[in-house]
Amino acid sequence: EAKSRGRATYCLFQDGMGDAMRKRRQIEEDLHVAIADGELELYYQPRLDLETGHISSYEALIRWHHPQKGLISPGDFIPVAENSGQIIQIGKWVLHTALKDAAGPLAHARISVNVSPVQFRDTEFAEEVRQSLAASGVPAERLELEITENLLIEDDERALSILSSLKATGIKIALDDFGVGYSSLGYLSRFPFDTIKIDRSFIQQRGYNANSQAIIDTVVRLGKALNMSIVAEGVEDLDSLLFLRDSGCDELQGFFIGRPEPLSRMVLDTSPEIAAALAVPSTPVTSR
Ligand code: C2E
Ligand code: MG
Ligand code: MG
Ligand code: MG
Repeated sequence: EAKSRGRATYCLFQDGMGDAMRKRRQIEEDLHVAIADGELELYYQPRLDLETGHISSYEALIRWHHPQKGLISPGDFIPVAENSGQIIQIGKWVLHTALKDAAGPLAHARISVNVSPVQFRDTEFAEEVRQSLAASGVPAERLELEITENLLIEDDERALSILSSLKATGIKIALDDFGVGYSSLGYLSRFPFDTIKIDRSFIQQRGYNANSQAIIDTVVRLGKALNMSIVAEGVEDLDSLLFLRDSGCDELQGFFIGRPEPLSRMVLDTSPEIAAALAVPSTPVTSR
C-alpha cells in the first residue's frame, strides 16, 4: 500500500513539476516576443515629498501587455526573466526608457528604477548605466537605483564596489523593501545608501501591530542618524499618511498618494484631500 501510494504521489509531483516548468518555458518564449514587439511598458508611481507636500519623484514599475493574457505584473515574469537571463535585456530597456521619460515628460521629477541582483552579475552593468545616463542628458542626481538586500547577500564585496562606483557618479542608491528578507544592519554601516524604503508590510500592519509602529519609528531614527532619506511604501489611507509624517519620514509612496500609471494617465500632483491634510496649496490631480 505504501509503495503504491508512494508511486501515486511521485506521479502527481512529476505532473505538477511539468506544469510549472511548461509555464515558465512558455513565459520565457513569450518574453522574447514581448521584448522585440514592444509589449513592455513602464508605469510610474508618484512619491510624495513631505517637506513640500508635492510629488517629488516617480518609481518606474514594469508591466507586460500580453496579447492573449492581458496585463501581467512583474511578480509573474521578473523571476522567470532572472532565471533565464532575459532580465539583462529587460533591465537595459527599463533603464533606457525611464531615462528617456526622465528627459521628457518627467523632466520635473526624479526617477527610481528597480535593479535585479542578476543585472549586477553583468560585468558591463555599471558602465552601461553611466553610458545610458550620459546619452540621456539627465543629471545623475535625478536617477535613483533601487536594490534589495538579496544583492548584498549574493556577492557582498563586488556589489558594494559596483554600488560605490555608481554612487560616485552622483546616482542615488536606495535600499528597497527594508526590513523583510535577510536584513542586516551591517549593510547600513558598510554602504552609504541615500535612501531606505521601509517595506510596505510594516506600514500595513501598523494599525493593529504596535511592534510595527515601533519598528517604523526606529528605522526613521536610524536613517536620520546615518544621514539617509526615509521613504515609506504602501501608504493606503490618510491615517497612515499622517502617522508616517509625524514619525519623520521624508517621502511617502502608496495607492493613497497615487497608483502606478502609464505616462498618459500619470498622477501629476498631490490630491486636494492630501494637500488639505498637509495644509499645502494644491493643484488638482489631472491627466496629461
Ligand atoms: P517594489 O520595487 O517594492 O515596488 C512596489 C510594489 O508595490 C509595486 O508592485 C507597486 O505597485 C506596489 N504598491 C505600491 N503602493 C502600494 C500600496 O499602497 N499597496 C499595495 N498593496 N501595493 C502597493 P508591482 O508594480 O507589482 O511590482 C512588484 C515588484 O516587481 C517590485 O517591487 C519590484 O521588486 C519588481 N519590479 C517592478 N518593476 C521592475 C523592473 O523594472 N525591474 C526589476 N528588476 N524589478 C521590477
Ligand atoms: Mg522598488
Ligand atoms: Mg519595495
Ligand atoms: Mg517589493
